Amino acid sequence: MVNYTLWANIKSLSQLKKNGRKIGHLRFKGKGWYKTINYNQSGFKIDEHKNKLTFSKIGTINCRGLNNRVRKNKIKGIILKRAQTGRWLANIQIENVPIALPKTNKSVGLDVGVSSFIVDSDGRRVENPKNIDKQLKKIKKKHQTLSRKKKDSKNWLKAKLHLAKLLAQVTNQRKDFLHKVSRFYVNVYDLICVEDLDIKELSQKGNKNNKRSRPLHRNIIDASWGQFFNYLSYKAVNADKKVVKVHPKGTTQECSRCGRIVKKTLSDRIHFCTYCNLELDRDYNASINILKRGTGCASILVENRPLVTITASAIVSGQVFSMNQETPSLR
Ligand SMILES: [Zn+2]
Repeated sequence: MVNYTLWANIKSLSQLKKNGRKIGHLRFKGKGWYKTINYNQSGFKIDEHKNKLTFSKIGTINCRGLNNRVRKNKIKGIILKRAQTGRWLANIQIENVPIALPKTNKSVGLDVGVSSFIVDSDGRRVENPKNIDKQLKKIKKKHQTLSRKKKDSKNWLKAKLHLAKLLAQVTNQRKDFLHKVSRFYVNVYDLICVEDLDIKELSQKGNKNNKRSRPLHRNIIDASWGQFFNYLSYKAVNADKKVVKVHPKGTTQECSRCGRIVKKTLSDRIHFCTYCNLELDRDYNASINILKRGTGCASILVENRPLVTITASAIVSGQVFSMNQETPSLR
């Protein structure tokens, strides 16, 4: 497999060169660089009842976290990987068998934002995980500790490991949250409409300084949206549901009832339309516009009502699934 990877890399690099791209040389990777062992098709055995993995040339090792999917699906291969935290992970590749979920005949528009993670067109406000700032502070401190140590010394390695562990924990928590939110929407809706963030990003590139001066907090939230849409898309495909990306231009400014433009600044939290007197939460208004664009439905009955707030911890603990009946659909 190592040989195979090497030759595949050389081949794709020469292809890039042919296409006129500038490419560098392959570099020797010494100790500490090589982190994976690849078992393709054979050479491994899984004992899911005893939580043990057996590999040829290595032996049997205990493991944690073997789940249902491993039991039910055909296993194509295992990649053993050493994480930066010093732990070993087994990436088990399974054959993907799509399982269609029952149809609900419901569609939804999602507006992702900074102040809340999502506001949807059925009046839910999903909050951002609260611990981001707290964890960032900790990470910053660990970075400082690391930079004060002498490189490659024992204490430096120790500090590095601490930092890696903390980062892994933060990443895992964020992924868990994103998986559960996307799972919720794919279960409840047949059609999920979101903004095309790539276009949004492009249209905002005019302000170049903006990105650099943005706080780290904001960057993490940005990254979360992309990841969330990825999870949403692949879960939807597997469940025979649909995700539609709509053009983001003006979703905030437009009035979701009469379609006229109501100018707002970033700090205006309320949409108030002087033409039709509609008064709504700003993000709620946007989510209805997104739904309208995604479904092609010109008029959607809109009413002003308080949004139902869903905390990140309610999602992570699974409470959101029992809440899903409590928010009656507007349509
Ligand atoms: Zn209006």
